[in-house]
Amino acid sequence: MVRGGTVAVVGGSIAGCAFAAAAARAGADRVVVLERTRGRLADRGVGLCVHDDRAAELTALGALPAGIARHRLTRRRWVVKDPAAPASPAGRLFWEQPFPFHSYHWGLLWRGLREATPASVVHRQGAAVTAVARAEAHGRRRPEVVTADGAAEAYDLVVGADGYRSVVRDAICPGSRPHYAGYVCWRGNFDARLLDTLGEDPWPPDAVTTVCFPGGSCVVYRIPGPDGTRVNWVLYAAPPRAAGLRFDDPTSFPPGHLTPELATSLAELLARAFPPYWARLIALTPPQDTFVQPIYDLETARTAAGGILLAGDAATVVRPHNTSGAAKALQDASAFASAWRDAASWDELASAYEAARGEAGRELVALARRLGRAQVEQTPDWAAMDRHGAESWWRTQLGGAPGIGGQAMSRP
Ligand SMILES: Cc1cc2nc3c(=O)[nH]c(=O)nc-3n(C[C@H](O)[C@H](O)[C@H](O)COP(=O)(O)OP(=O)(O)OC[C@H]3O[C@@H](n4cnc5c(N)ncnc54)[C@H](O)[C@@H]3O)c2cc1C
Repeated sequence: MVRGGTVAVVGGSIAGCAFAAAAARAGADRVVVLERTRGRLADRGVGLCVHDDRAAELTALGALPAGIARHRLTRRRWVVKDPAAPASPAGRLFWEQPFPFHSYHWGLLWRGLREATPASVVHRQGAAVTAVARAEAHGRRRPEVVTADGAAEAYDLVVGADGYRSVVRDAICPGSRPHYAGYVCWRGNFDARLLDTLGEDPWPPDAVTTVCFPGGSCVVYRIPGPDGTRVNWVLYAAPPRAAGLRFDDPTSFPPGHLTPELATSLAELLARAFPPYWARLIALTPPQDTFVQPIYDLETARTAAGGILLAGDAATVVRPHNTSGAAKALQDASAFASAWRDAASWDELASAYEAARGEAGRELVALARRLGRAQVEQTPDWAAMDRHGAESWWRTQLGGAPGIGGQAMSRP
């Protein structure tokens, strides 16, 4: 087992909190989290889901604290505007599949993880890391973290938990950049009590609904919130060509901005392609609370080298269709804790982490890419689909994978 040592964690979000906690519990002498944001991290979209089997495993491993608010989901319903009855409020239900997940509020999940971080962890807010390099000090080569104020500090281990635009990634995978999938998601959420204003409610609380339309799909589910249940929705489609926005480089578009063209395009899509109930439901989120995020993916050739480890979205950018982002970040932290226990040196720790998480991350990227192609880029003729057609379409997307939401860490 590696003893003592200093660990810098770049990024203090889901992966960052989980890695900092794992390093402190494993016995690191000093753990420093460098987070560029000052104060509490603000929610950026709000809802996410974790598969029940992943959650149970992560809780047993100590990576997911018990007691964080969550909402139970059991089934996923696929609906489409019925060409034979376009005014039918809720559309035609063509498939219902099991969906053993719980939904979370991002801010409440983050707060639970942050509060579970041991008190010995030093959190430096407003510390933007500009580069990580390997430097010679006292006859040893160690990773060195450079911050925006010009300060440089060497650590035994640096964890890049700095998300999809990771700076740390450049140190071990130079030149690798997230690839724009060709579409965006519009996201929103609102107080579930507003559903009463829609009149009839064809939507059971334990059901996720996917509203299907030519060229995309929209996932709607309830989540817990600080002041009661909320409705969370994520709508995937290509952005309007006229908007003139550039998404090919992730630094070119600040997530969250809704331009007038993007707002108009959403309104037109709802009017044209959504069953009336679902169009009115999405419109309950006012434009100023509607977010837009371009969808990217990226698999890295390696997730560890020379005392530097990549975690969560910094290691792999997975399209959200796989519903695995938070679970994957927490699994990375569990694998890190286990690698620490078994390793006799930092190099051994890095090799064990790479073996445990490298291929697993790349599999998630590939599966989510297939899901994105089938559910957005090359949508089937949903209007003609029945249960049998949907089941076979789903199996093709999975391509042999047992399901979505990530896989167990302890595979049989
Ligand atoms: C504020 C915020 C809100 C989110 N809200 C949602 C949500 O509502 N629903 C959802 O599904 N997913 C959300 N996500 C994404 C989700 O958390 C991740 O996909 C998943 O949990 C894995 O996250 P991560 O910790 O690897 O990366 P991220 O969550 O992207 O976190 C990266 C962290 O690193 C910090 N950082 C980045 N660059 C630097 C740097 N150079 N120096 C120092 N710090 C840096 C960022 O500020 C951020 O806190 C959110 C992410 C963030 C940051």
